[in-house]
Amino acid sequence: MRIGHEIFAIIKELCALGPRWMGREGAMNARNYIVEQFNIVGLKTELQSFSYLSYEPRYASIMIADRELQCEPIAYSTSTIQPLTAPLIYCGHCTEKEIASLKARGAKLNKSILLSDNLRSFVAYPIAEAAGALGFISLTSLQDNTIRCGCARNDRKLGNIPAVSIGGVDGREIVQRLKSEEIIEATIQLNGQIEEREGENVIGIKPGNSNSRILITAHYDSFWNGVHAMDNGAGTATIISLARSMLHESETAFEFVAFGGEELGFWGSTGYVERHRKSLSDIIAVINLDNFGSKLSQLEIGATADLLDFCRLTAEENKISIDCWNTPPRVASDQHVFVEEGVPAIWIANCGADPRYHTPLDVPAEMSPEKLEAVATLAFEFAKRLS
Ligand SMILES: [Zn+2]
Repeated sequence: MRIGHEIFAIIKELCALGPRWMGREGAMNARNYIVEQFNIVGLKTELQSFSYLSYEPRYASIMIADRELQCEPIAYSTSTIQPLTAPLIYCGHCTEKEIASLKARGAKLNKSILLSDNLRSFVAYPIAEAAGALGFISLTSLQDNTIRCGCARNDRKLGNIPAVSIGGVDGREIVQRLKSEEIIEATIQLNGQIEEREGENVIGIKPGNSNSRILITAHYDSFWNGVHAMDNGAGTATIISLARSMLHESETAFEFVAFGGEELGFWGSTGYVERHRKSLSDIIAVINLDNFGSKLSQLEIGATADLLDFCRLTAEENKISIDCWNTPPRVASDQHVFVEEGVPAIWIANCGADPRYHTPLDVPAEMSPEKLEAVATLAFEFAKRLS
């Protein structure tokens, strides 16, 4: 398991740089670290700038039934000018269906703050907002009171209502009380600074014998509340390791791309696609690695329909069993912007099996060299066979 341990070692170095939130020092140090690693491998390294809207959390507080709870702001939600006070309504996963059924029962959504246990704030928040809610609260599914960070949307647009995340212990207690018909008020105060800024992707280039190229990609940024080993120290470390092993393996051109700004809605990959719009048809495939390799992880492949049989066969021949499949890949990482442009793409992820992502519990000690190695082997085989 040499490769698994090698990747694990890179993850530890990367995580030692601290959280990699865009606009802060940790992200800058990670970017420099990747440049250094690509240079050591012997790739030609390029920094590709892209503009994005940064979010800097300044202040967040929530009082529920006169008790102050710990919370994190949801990125891209709106700052409050005055404290927002309104009664809470529990909306479950906050799906269109649940909203419709609340409305049918006469719930005054447009005078309330909605409380949801949907893990994907970027899915639930826009629905709460469209339902006319005044504010939004997300609670995590973890057994303790650890808080998960999240973004209000994933389409690079800003939300129009304030929103915070709270812990599962606090959240579930409130849900119980709401279920027993108690009326509970919440007060949210929030301040986050949104600014247009420049970020950078790191591209490591291995030249080839034609214009056709394969992209192996991973985002290097993380939320501000932890070092986030699986999301996505794992992907970043794996593309560095793959660059080492791929260098003399093929005549085909490769680009190893570490994207910035993924957590705020795929800004780096969007910037890449805008830059290369005229030559996107030269991309044989994008292999994107995001969120995998922890002890609780399962193995997931998301693939565009044109690559599905290829992926099945490759996994089978390498005796790697896949726990879940998605066609096309779920809209939750950088491959999405390529899929939208018709570029064949594969995403290796973890079936959503580890709920600790976006929390301070996503640390190197929870990573599994064995699971990291399985992903690296799979990605290497995909790359080799596609080239
Ligand atoms: Zn990620």
